Amino acid sequence: MTTSPERCCKCVLSSSFPTIAFDENGVCSFCRDEMHMPTEAATIERAQERIVELFESERGQAEYDAIMCYSGGKDSTYTLMTAVKKYNLKVLAFTLDNGFTSPAAFENIRRICDELGVDQITFAPSAKFFKPLIKVSALEEVYSPKTLVRISAICNSCISVVNNSALKLALEKEVPFILAGFTLGQIPANGIVYKNNYHFFRESREVYLERLRDSLGHAVDDYFCIKDSLLNKTKAFPYNVNLLCVEDPTEAEMFQVIAQIGWVSPRDVDGCSSNCRLNGFNNFIHQKNFRYSPYELELSHLIRKGKITREEALQKLSDTLQPEVITAIMKELAFSEEEIKAIGR
Ligand SMILES: [Zn+2]
Repeated sequence: MTTSPERCCKCVLSSSFPTIAFDENGVCSFCRDEMHMPTEAATIERAQERIVELFESERGQAEYDAIMCYSGGKDSTYTLMTAVKKYNLKVLAFTLDNGFTSPAAFENIRRICDELGVDQITFAPSAKFFKPLIKVSALEEVYSPKTLVRISAICNSCISVVNNSALKLALEKEVPFILAGFTLGQIPANGIVYKNNYHFFRESREVYLERLRDSLGHAVDDYFCIKDSLLNKTKAFPYNVNLLCVEDPTEAEMFQVIAQIGWVSPRDVDGCSSNCRLNGFNNFIHQKNFRYSPYELELSHLIRKGKITREEALQKLSDTLQPEVITAIMKELAFSEEEIKAIGR
């Protein structure tokens, strides 16, 4: 009798990952499919040309050329540096503080923005709304199973608020670009550059917004939606651009380059984050519910593309939060004993 391996021997996908199958050598179906897929290179090259053209035609017309969704982590720091130094954009860095941003991340944000000559603003939503949002995201089935193969539910809530807040800011200031630090493991190649289509976007989110409203009331709309009064004034929607997908550095190159402009690795986060103290908790909940890490898909993609080694990826996945840190976060979020016991049943 043959048994399924715990993980693929080429990437890091677990045997519990949805739809996965292994061959007799312990190689997963995702690795085997990728060998037969046409390369993304042509799509990436076209995206790069389009980005250069768009930057040339739109720059210099508004107060800022771009709003950068800037968490202070390594990916967004590298992206911000590229936007300023390589593409010469005037950027406003935008940071969402979910209440769990590492103090070391804030120090990085200050140092990097000063070094690059970038203005920066932080939006810190009230904990009265945000802590219950985190708790509901952790405990209730808000998002579709398809979404949750690549991101934890709590991260998805935070990123939705980041995206909405950055769009609001771009519309208010008529800024033509929104930059984010996503990699091709996190988004598809057709998501590298696209014109923001808020109306379509709002419709596609309505199912989960309704679930969030059921638990949190209509305050949800203040953080996840743009008011009609602003939409009616809008002349043009900005482009969303993910520069990291076309720059395509290895992780080691990224760490090296951002260290030169003063970035220091925070010590109070898990191995999959470089800015957020909550991330390890999000992974813990996801692992309990689904028996695999929400980072496996992205890390496996990066391994296949030669951007990190399998050993580096395994190191990240095994660098989890200590149980007492998880317990402290649950207390801070006001989880009851019953709620803790119910996770992952
Ligand atoms: Zn694999």
